[in-house]
Amino acid sequence: MSKFPADAAGKKLVTLIPGDGIGPECVEAAKTIVEAAGAKIAWEVRHAGESVFKQGIPSGVPQETIDSIKKTRCVLKGPLGTPVGYGEKSANVTLRKLFETYANIRPVRELPGVKTPYSGRGIDLVVVRENVEDLYAGIEHMQTPGVAQCLKLISRKGCEKIVRIAFEFARSEGRKSVACATKSNIMKMTEGTLKRTFEEVAKEYPDIQSWHVIIDNACHQLVKKPEQFDVIVTTNMNGDIMSDLTSALVGGLGFAPSANLGSEVAIFEAVHGSAPKYAGKNVINPTAVLGSAILMLRHLDEFDAAVAIEHALMVTMEEGKVPTGDVVGYDSPKAAKTTDFAAEVIKNLGRKSTTYKVREYKPLKMPTVPKAADPVVAKTRRVVGFDLFVESTDHPTKLGPVLAAAVEGSPVKLKMISNRGTQIYPDKGTTIDCTDASQCRFLLRDAGELADAAIFALLPKLAAVATWAHIEKLQEFDGQPSFTKAQGED
Ligand code: NAP
Repeated sequence: MSKFPADAAGKKLVTLIPGDGIGPECVEAAKTIVEAAGAKIAWEVRHAGESVFKQGIPSGVPQETIDSIKKTRCVLKGPLGTPVGYGEKSANVTLRKLFETYANIRPVRELPGVKTPYSGRGIDLVVVRENVEDLYAGIEHMQTPGVAQCLKLISRKGCEKIVRIAFEFARSEGRKSVACATKSNIMKMTEGTLKRTFEEVAKEYPDIQSWHVIIDNACHQLVKKPEQFDVIVTTNMNGDIMSDLTSALVGGLGFAPSANLGSEVAIFEAVHGSAPKYAGKNVINPTAVLGSAILMLRHLDEFDAAVAIEHALMVTMEEGKVPTGDVVGYDSPKAAKTTDFAAEVIKNLGRKSTTYKVREYKPLKMPTVPKAADPVVAKTRRVVGFDLFVESTDHPTKLGPVLAAAVEGSPVKLKMISNRGTQIYPDKGTTIDCTDASQCRFLLRDAGELADAAIFALLPKLAAVATWAHIEKLQEFDGQPSFTKAQGED
């Protein structure tokens, strides 16, 4: 019996989400080609995104779409539009998170017939982007009416999963190296957790070269010498930005497929969005969604159809009879319609590319991940103080003494005040442009432990002299502080 959900006729079930903007055109092209290649797929068409927001469903993902994905465990989707800077959350992110598709695999490879400044250099790399944590957890607050904050959540467990899948993916494709790209020089706890986890897990994969690179230099190196990269594993936002960059190296977003993989569900989609300016014009390049469909077919063990489509696509690109507008310019008389491009790929099914080497794929071994929280357990822990975030326009030389006086006679004293992470009290004699949101750090005066009751007793006293927005406990785990110092804090 197949390990994939199938209908009575044995066709594997796939939830098909046409999406917004150019989505339906790309998805229709890919679906037609997949069917022409003989893959036995039963599609369940469901919706998400803008059309669903308009029905008044705030998540953008209706229950019937969720139910279908729970059943099929496999999705091919078009891009979903998200209002920028206002309104509801992204339905894309919601889908990825609801089904815990924690790994976003984004391969790019130099393609025949697509001339770029990098042509001939053999770019063939994969960005493995963590897909459910980081700033994209979307936990945001306004600390004051004018100061916003977003929580960057990175877990040891999440890092281990993404690092393991990066190494397993490298093995499944016979790749030689995995680079870990982080900003751990600045964000030592969040980005640092990925770096440290990577260095530990890498020891279990001695057959694969591993190295760390700071994310900004990784982008610099990608533009300068992209062929040095094979697999790059990185955090969610870094990977989001970096994979648009890598797609441009091989011709643009029209050529960048992706797979969102989790332990139970896989969602295949282009890296690109709904490109509304091209919607309904039948001009866009469907290759990115088609490439995602090829990844999907491999995931479903439909290797013959995947190889047939990959060759037909490459023959189409090599011959260059139907170049899409992103390759030759939308104004060019040569620019082909999306539907003509799809028809040409279908015509070329059965032909073999002379220049393109299809990889030898081994099935990807998904990491086994405990469902439970799987916490890192500290042998010792101690509460040593708290940070109180307050709203105030008072000069620090006024606010500081007021807060210090409010905790007089208590187990804690005011250590410092920082504004956007830089110490402003005690004054260091530097020039800082302050906002009305300040972090006020209270630490134990003496050794020992700060009890919750002592914090609760202090809060009304502090609230009487300052408007507070939130409080963060300061702890030591195994003797190590669980918090970073402000810039300039001793
Ligand atoms: P976008 O839709 O990816 O489009 C950016 C540009 O990329 C286009 O203007 C076009 O470049 C090029 N492009 C994208 N797809 C192409 C294709 N198939 N063929 C040829 N060229 C293509 O990015 P956006 O305009 O920033 O975002 C639009 C909406 O999509 C937003 O609501 C965003 O939130 C959403 N989005 C969704 C997803 C997703 O569903 N996974 C991902 C990203 C963005 P030129 O202008 O140079 O021709």
